[in-house]
Amino acid sequence: MVVRLGGYARISLDKDGEELGVERQRQDYMQAAAARPGWRVAEHYVDNDLSAWKRNVKRPEFERLISDLASGAIDGIITYDLDRLTRQPRELEKLVDLYEANPKLVFATIVGDIDLSSSDGRTMARVMVAFANKASADTGRRVARKHKELADNGRNGGGFPAFGWKEDRKTVDPTQAALINKAHDDLLAGSRLATVVREWQAKDVKTSRGTGKPISRTAVKAILKNPRLAGFRTVKGQIHYGPDGQPVRGEWETICTPEKLEAVTAVLDGITERYKDRTKNGTNAYRYLLTGTLRCALCGTRMMPNARSSWTEGSKGSAFTYRCPAPSDGGCGKIARAGEPVDAHIVNLIHEAEGRLAAPPETDRMWTGEARFAEVEQERAELLAAKAAKKISLGTLIALLEPLETELEELKRDRAAHAVKVVQAANPSLIEDFERLPLERQRAVVMKHIKAVMVSPAGRGARKFNPDLLEVVWAA
Ligand SMILES: [Zn+2]
Repeated sequence: MVVRLGGYARISLDKDGEELGVERQRQDYMQAAAARPGWRVAEHYVDNDLSAWKRNVKRPEFERLISDLASGAIDGIITYDLDRLTRQPRELEKLVDLYEANPKLVFATIVGDIDLSSSDGRTMARVMVAFANKASADTGRRVARKHKELADNGRNGGGFPAFGWKEDRKTVDPTQAALINKAHDDLLAGSRLATVVREWQAKDVKTSRGTGKPISRTAVKAILKNPRLAGFRTVKGQIHYGPDGQPVRGEWETICTPEKLEAVTAVLDGITERYKDRTKNGTNAYRYLLTGTLRCALCGTRMMPNARSSWTEGSKGSAFTYRCPAPSDGGCGKIARAGEPVDAHIVNLIHEAEGRLAAPPETDRMWTGEARFAEVEQERAELLAAKAAKKISLGTLIALLEPLETELEELKRDRAAHAVKVVQAANPSLIEDFERLPLERQRAVVMKHIKAVMVSPAGRGARKFNPDLLEVVWAA
C-alpha cells in the first residue's frame, strides 16, 4: 500500500537556529521517505521567510497542508523537524486534532524528534512547541526592547549605513553629502525630481545596498527626504519621538538643517509648489522656455507652443512657434511667432539685466511664525508631561492635543513655504549659469524676473524677427 506524504519545508529569517535551506530540507525528507517501503512524497509545501511562532503571520502552505491532510488528499506529513512545522500551540492543536481523529495518519521527521501519531508523541510535541514559542517570543521581545532603547538614545540601528554617511554611520561621506546638498538646492530652485534622478544615474550613483541597477526615483526621493540628514533618529523611516515628546537627535554628523529638510520634503511631497509655474503639468508646454509668459497683445491670452511636425535637425526655419490659441480655445488666433528667435531675444535681455536682477532681493530670512511655533510646541510638551504624570486623562489629552497639532501642521507648512522662498530669492548663480541649467530651471529664472511678454502683430508678409514687437513686463 502506498503512503502519500506531504513534505513540508520552511525557511525563516530569525537567526536563532542554523539556517537550513529549503532545498536541503527537501532532499533530506525525500531521502528519508525513499528509505521506507511504500512511502512516497506526493506533494511539497514550502513557506518562505515566515516565522512559525508569530500568531499574526499567515503561512499559506502550512494551511494547505492541514486542509489536504483533513480531506485525505495525503496520508501524512514528513518534515525536517517539528520546529520547521510549527512553533505555535494553536497550529499544533489543529494537527493534534487530525492525528487523534485518524490513527492511521503517518508523521515523520528527519531528526526523529517526534511522532504525532502516538499519544506520547503528541504530549511531547505540545511541550516542545510551548518551549519553542516562549523562546522565540522572548527573543522577539528582547530585540524590540533593544531597538527602542537604541532609538530613544539616538543611537544608530543596524542595517546598511544610510546614503550620505561612511561605514561607521556617523561620519559624513563628503561625496554623497555633496550630491544631496546640490540636489536640495536644485529642487528648491526649481529643478524637478526627474532631473535630479537623471543626473545621479548619469554619475552612476549607487545606494549602499548595491543591487547594481541604476538608482531609482523612489530611492533618490527617500534619500533626499531622510530625516537623518538633519540629525533626527528614525524608526521605520519616521522621526522617532522620545519619552519627553521631542524628536530624538542622533549621534551622527548632520548634512542639512531641519529647516532645509522641511522645505525639501514639502517640495517633494507637493505641499509647496517649488515655483509657481504658469503652465499645467503634464502638457508639452513645459518643454518650451516661454510658455505661459508670452501673451498675445491683441487679446491678452497666453500663447501656446506648437512644434512644426516637418522640422528635423538641420531644417531651415523654426522648430516651433508660439501662437495665440484659436477662438475655440479662448484666444483670438491672430498672432504666431517663430519660437527660437523669441527665446534667444528674451535670454539676451535677461543677461543684459544681469547685474540689476541678480542683486540680493529684499526677502526677510526670518520666518515670522517662529515664536508661535515654539509656544505651541511647548504647550504640546506640557500636555504630554501632564499625561505622563497622570494629572490629565487620555481623553483630555487627545481633546487638547488635536487643535495644537492642527496648528503645528499649518505652521510647519508655512515655515516650509518660507524656506523655499528664501532659497529661491537668494540664488545669485542662477543667471550666470543660465545656459547650463535644465529647462525647468531656466523657466524658473524667466518667471522670477519677467511677469509677461506681450507679443504684437507683425503685419502682413513680415518675415524678419523684429524685437520691437515684444514688450517685456519685468517683475518689480
Ligand atoms: Zn490673441
